[in-house]
Amino acid sequence: MNSLTLKILFMVGLGLSLVIRFPYRQEQRQNTIVDDRKTSQEKLILVLIFIGMLLLPLIYVFSSWLNVANYRQPIWINGLGVTTFTIALWLFWRSHHDLGKNWSPTLQIRDGHTLITNGVYHHVRHPMYTSILLWCIAQALLLPNWVAGWAGIISFGIAYITRIGKEEQMLLDRFGDEYEAYKERTKRLVPYLF
Ligand code: SAH
Repeated sequence: MNSLTLKILFMVGLGLSLVIRFPYRQEQRQNTIVDDRKTSQEKLILVLIFIGMLLLPLIYVFSSWLNVANYRQPIWINGLGVTTFTIALWLFWRSHHDLGKNWSPTLQIRDGHTLITNGVYHHVRHPMYTSILLWCIAQALLLPNWVAGWAGIISFGIAYITRIGKEEQMLLDRFGDEYEAYKERTKRLVPYLF
């Protein structure tokens, strides 16, 4: 696949991800927040993700500024990228669907928050993060550029490492033994593995 086709595919996926998230963002705005752990570190994480997963890929797609960092890759890598991208988008949709009103872009508990342990949440505790990780891998496979391709994995990797413990602590504070039992029987990102 030539780089234009790959760029178009990436943009289509980006558009779909925005469409998937839109109704949840609208709904989330109406929530009454009872526990807000949006620290300045959390805000920094959101900026980092914006740069790594949106800004740099858009610069790569719409300008030639990052072209010095381009490289070539075999066609099968593109096929792998498209497959990974498709799975990532499906899981992104499915985890939003299962989390419903409990979704938020940052660490928050809403009034009436319920612990979701069904659907894809039956298999892992953080399926949305699994989908974002898959997305970042696909970003690297679809955009053959050392900066735009790999910025997603780096920014999400930092975000995940700094956020995950705090998110689980927040849910533990809210749901106590129920979350403890859920933790006992599930892995974070990949069923049976980790
Ligand atoms: N980490 C989850 C959800 C990401 S959205 C995932 O990757 O699928 C972030 C918000 O989801 C957090 O603020 C938290 O309040 C909420 N959350 C995370 N896991 C949850 C669960 N099992 N049930 C209900 N809310 C959850």
